[in-house]
Amino acid sequence: INDSTPSPETLERLSSMFTINSDKLNQIVRHFVSEMKKGLDSDKSGLLMIPSHVVNLPNGKEHGSFLALDLGGTNFRVCEVFLDGHSGARVRQSKHTVTDEQKALPGEQLFDFFAQCVKHFLIEGLANPSTEPLAEIAKRHWKLGFTFSFATNQVAIAEGYLILWNKGFSNPGVIGANVVQLLEAALKRAGLASIKVTALVNDTTGTLVSHAYVQPSTRVGVILGTGTNCAYVEKIENITKYKNTDPNVKEMLVNTEWGAFDDEQVVVPRNKYDVKVDRSMNGMGKYTFEKLISGMYLGEIVRFVLVDLVKTGEIFSAGASPELKMPHSFETAFMSRIERDHTLDLSDTRTVLEDMLKIPRTTLADRRLVKSLCELVGKRSARLSAAGIAAVITKMNKLDGCTVGIDGSLFELYPHYSNRMRDALREILGLSAEYIVLEQARDGSGQGAALIAALAEK
Ligand code: ADP
Repeated sequence: INDSTPSPETLERLSSMFTINSDKLNQIVRHFVSEMKKGLDSDKSGLLMIPSHVVNLPNGKEHGSFLALDLGGTNFRVCEVFLDGHSGARVRQSKHTVTDEQKALPGEQLFDFFAQCVKHFLIEGLANPSTEPLAEIAKRHWKLGFTFSFATNQVAIAEGYLILWNKGFSNPGVIGANVVQLLEAALKRAGLASIKVTALVNDTTGTLVSHAYVQPSTRVGVILGTGTNCAYVEKIENITKYKNTDPNVKEMLVNTEWGAFDDEQVVVPRNKYDVKVDRSMNGMGKYTFEKLISGMYLGEIVRFVLVDLVKTGEIFSAGASPELKMPHSFETAFMSRIERDHTLDLSDTRTVLEDMLKIPRTTLADRRLVKSLCELVGKRSARLSAAGIAAVITKMNKLDGCTVGIDGSLFELYPHYSNRMRDALREILGLSAEYIVLEQARDGSGQGAALIAALAEK
């Protein structure tokens, strides 16, 4: 080992732990497609394949003013969406961070917080705040689309029961409950009984619908943010577990809940660091595919590897720092920053390691090793999400082309992410990959929920 080049043995070992080659990708896709089929048939599959009850894509003529709430993972947003009837929309919104404490509050209190946010938002939006703002608001008879991005057993467009929490939420009293009812009850307690929750939406279906509003060839919606998930358009006769009674319904959006793909550990390779991350976060053994892919976990995987490399003396020989030992101290955004660092001496990587993580002294070899590690973990994430997309497109028989709308900070901000996905798609689908368009979907869930609330009226 010298000061500028990391040990080839270390690099080789890490690379073999995190690399997913073409053969493995193809195996994953085959298993994914078979799990999709099983999930459409019954609930005996790792993929929940939840029928969304959304049966129309927008045609751009939807109009009116709707409320939308969006509980993603990191943020809670309240939006007022004006659909102009000509494929256009304006959005007014407020954004609130959901703290770790709030993620553990009794469920009712979490929903009370949402209702208070809505109340303040509506009062702020009044042209002439009178002495009776609530009476003023009640006159509007708002319809609300609620984007609730967790696995719910959706039995109607506005009725869904939480199956399990993920992304760090653990609020008691919500699993098994109808989240629309919880929200309406909280709105009522806040004096907002005139608001009707007309659609319960998953962020993936919201993303798909809102991207279809601007790009009609959209058939798949993907989230790559705090968590990861995907929805797509399925033929109603293929959703054999769904008892369709309406002859006019030909298609329905299906929420795959792909974050929980392969929780039975059949096909996706996992290493000891993945196992550590799984054990250290809540929901052990659940959403294990998501834990290899999404923003909430990638930095933590890198951190666990670094802590181990310090122990074996393979990195930071001048010593590590207490910060590095703290859970979640290595943010996924740091990985973006390090991967974007193209300076000769990796000076921005040094800033992250020495200034932000307080590592006393790093060598160029250390920084190169950290960068290679980020690349391995980031690339694996992109390749696995691409495998999911390839499987969905294969299942839909859309190899002749369609658009995938993708929302989330990971896709938007992580360097090379979409190129890496594209490389993997080529390895899996060959020439057909050229017909798959991956597009950034912007702010889908607010507008998507409003559109679905509008479509639900039809
Ligand atoms: P949500 O999924 O909660 O609606 P986002 O799409 O903004 O919200 O995703 C938040 C996640 O994105 C966090 O887990 C965070 O680690 C990750 N993230 C934030 N900034 C970046 C970045 N620059 N590069 C990669 N990941 C990021």
